Amino acid sequence: MNIDQVVTQCQAAGVRLVRFLYCDNGCTIRGKLVPMERLAGRMASGQGLTLAMQAMNMLDQLQPVEGMGPVGEIRLVPDPDSLVILPYAPHSAAMMCDMIKLDREPWEACPRSFLKRMIARLADAGMTMQAAMEGEFSLFREEAPGKYVPIDTGLCFSTISMTAAADVVDAMVAAFEAQGISVDAYYPELGHGQHEMPLRHAPVLRAADNQIWFRETIRSVAAQHGIIASLAPKPMPDQAGNGCHIHWSLWDLEGKRNVLYDPADPYLLSKVAYHFIAGVLTHLPGLLALTTPSYNSFRRLQPHFWSSAYTAWGPDNREAAVRVASGVWGSEATSINMELKSADSSSNPYLALGGLIAAGLDGVRRELTVGDPALIDPGNYSDAERAARGIRRFPTTQAEALDALEADPVLMEALGPVLANAYITVKRSEYAAFSAEDIDFEIKHHIYKF
Ligand code: GLU
Ligand code: MG
Repeated sequence: MNIDQVVTQCQAAGVRLVRFLYCDNGCTIRGKLVPMERLAGRMASGQGLTLAMQAMNMLDQLQPVEGMGPVGEIRLVPDPDSLVILPYAPHSAAMMCDMIKLDREPWEACPRSFLKRMIARLADAGMTMQAAMEGEFSLFREEAPGKYVPIDTGLCFSTISMTAAADVVDAMVAAFEAQGISVDAYYPELGHGQHEMPLRHAPVLRAADNQIWFRETIRSVAAQHGIIASLAPKPMPDQAGNGCHIHWSLWDLEGKRNVLYDPADPYLLSKVAYHFIAGVLTHLPGLLALTTPSYNSFRRLQPHFWSSAYTAWGPDNREAAVRVASGVWGSEATSINMELKSADSSSNPYLALGGLIAAGLDGVRRELTVGDPALIDPGNYSDAERAARGIRRFPTTQAEALDALEADPVLMEALGPVLANAYITVKRSEYAAFSAEDIDFEIKHHIYKF
């Protein structure tokens, strides 16, 4: 799509305001709006934004990051191909933006440009990535200020929960349809009021954009039904957490051959697949700071909660950090894919997916190898067995994961010093803020922001 096509499509849909959106270092979705008569010009010139916004945490506390103060600005330049007409806001459309400097180069602190850089590195290695994120979310009614009660207490995959949520879920599916986003499945999950709606896979940049539309759509449609939808990793400490598992497959540059697949291997995996898994597991402690980045994320990552808690991999092992997802009958070659369980919707999807590529590519470049697959819950091995298999427990707090990120030269190089420094500063400030308060404060803010 080009600018004219965006304008024509918005006019046809009766749009008045267009959201220019980005996801920041606190992983909050923010943006500015442009009226229709300014749209073409503003798409070409970008919408001005203070560069301090990449130093803002999820509590709107501006952090002291060098070069991100009151002086200086960047431009939010929308990607025309990301256009969606919003079914949940009147006369509104939205696009995802890159952060571009006044010299027209991508800003070093732009998360979406970071993902594009990693996609380019993947292409240099002869590969492209398809990805899908499968978001779980909790549906609540706010019975009194701050008192969130799940809309159902039904069992996992139970019809009682389906019916309890049928109206709002129908509206969610309709809203995705209206935005041209394909839903892959829907089911009630284990936790009270917990539901899941994976989207179809797409080229990885589009998959990241789709995760933004997912967060926006789920929350907004629920709000129209008087329901609070939260994608927070652990909105109820005594219930299952909300993951947002990342599925991915690697393809040749033409997108014709799934390079993860090798029919001669017992798990149908190619050498590249094993190297990529090894890279992800090697870098996982630091990668978690990108894929499960919030204070609340680490309440979810517990052994035996199907969220993953160890650096293990295994075929269809839902307690392993990397599950090798079995392929579709008869089309294994095209459908075999990997799933990172240690990911949630409090992430910035551009950072999460870019970090995943950087980690995996390092494994491919260095030809790293994996240990034996975990064929049982890795939490059920003894400490000695885990040690012998090279399986490590994840960092158990946001602060530890951020330390691991800072100590990981591959991820730090990939992010680059400007983005890495701003991100780590912002996230450490969130750790300081939440660890100084009680659990109610943590839950309230994560339920509301994600
Ligand atoms: N709710 C689980 C999690 O925290 C995932 C359950 C499943 O879909 O396997 O990731
Ligand atoms: Mg699930």
